[in-house]
Amino acid sequence: MAGLTLKHVYKRYENSGKKKKSKQLNPFAVNDLNLECGEGEFVALLGPSGCGKTTTLRMVAGLEDITQGEIYIGDRLANNLHPKDRNIGLAFEDYAMYPPLDVYGNVAFNLRAKGVDKAEIDRRVREIAPLMQIDDILDKMPVKLSGGQKQRVNIARAIIREPELLLMDEPLSHLDGKARQLMRIEIKRLIHKIQCTTVYVTHDQLEAMSLADKIAIINFGVLQQFGTPSEVYDDPVNEFVASFIGEPPMNILETTIIKSDGTFFFTFPDSNLKIAVPSRYYSVVSDGFKCKMGVRPMDVLIGGPDSKGTPEEIATFENLGDERRIGIHVGDMLLMLITEDEKRYRRGDIIKLEVREEKTHLFDIETGERIREKP
Ligand code: ADP
Repeated sequence: MAGLTLKHVYKRYENSGKKKKSKQLNPFAVNDLNLECGEGEFVALLGPSGCGKTTTLRMVAGLEDITQGEIYIGDRLANNLHPKDRNIGLAFEDYAMYPPLDVYGNVAFNLRAKGVDKAEIDRRVREIAPLMQIDDILDKMPVKLSGGQKQRVNIARAIIREPELLLMDEPLSHLDGKARQLMRIEIKRLIHKIQCTTVYVTHDQLEAMSLADKIAIINFGVLQQFGTPSEVYDDPVNEFVASFIGEPPMNILETTIIKSDGTFFFTFPDSNLKIAVPSRYYSVVSDGFKCKMGVRPMDVLIGGPDSKGTPEEIATFENLGDERRIGIHVGDMLLMLITEDEKRYRRGDIIKLEVREEKTHLFDIETGERIREKP
């Protein structure tokens, strides 16, 4: 097992920018990426499609040249190491299997190619098969396998080599709903058992939040934040991270802060809603200060009959069984809240809206950077 370090890594594809030169704002698919994955850590690379996740993984695997920077596997500089000398297990999105070989043959393939002796191969296949729950399908041919089974074989093939580093690229993308959720639990159990440093590419924040020890959130090739799931959820560094993590996403509303009788309030255009600004921000705001206010839907509440909350009209209502989502118009913006209240609200109903003021975040209106209280 080895850790992984990326130091100021850049990737520029030779053909990038040629086709759409005028639109090319960022010529780098990966732009000054610094990451440190400790031994045995599970790190998710998370971001929208095209942000550079796969490129990063392919550079770590040695399948793509690095334009600039250094990649270390353990304390070995890997920049010029051939992929086969990196001792890496790869489980990529398309689980291409060898059709003429049964599951056993597919799992054993790389060890056979390396000339590992037959008894040792058999020992390793029999050890991994129950871990991946493929012991009862070892003699099946690939065409007879379900998507979930293929996925498990794919991962078994990656880990049988006892890699120092396991790289997975959207390994669950071909699975739907329930199968995806089950496989997520299996991956968690497996990684816990094999204790292998893992880098896992996904665009699905829920997958990253539930699996990873640490999440690297990337946008346009640039690392936005690298932290534990609770750090990126509770303490996002900017508007992008705040709205990418969480479902439904954080409400982010443009606001003008006003001062009234010594108290600062968030106010919103064409709305009566007024939310007190937490006093810790008093040193960074002023009367008339414009910024964005962020608050998670679960920190917006429906007040009881004696509530001093602002009366607001329900604009949208969704009943999802164990939770209900309500949307309120704040000017031309929509504020979402999640409630477990079982009352069947309707569009047009009036509720008293309360906000957990201490849970509000401030973001710069231009850059989207978090505005923090002064220490
Ligand atoms: P992600 O995995 O986050 O979806 P990728 O790493 O695949 O993103 O792609 C990052 C950027 O690099 C995208 O703009 C993509 O179009 C570009 N890109 C990826 N592969 C190539 C390639 N082989 N040649 C040129 N550009 C590429």
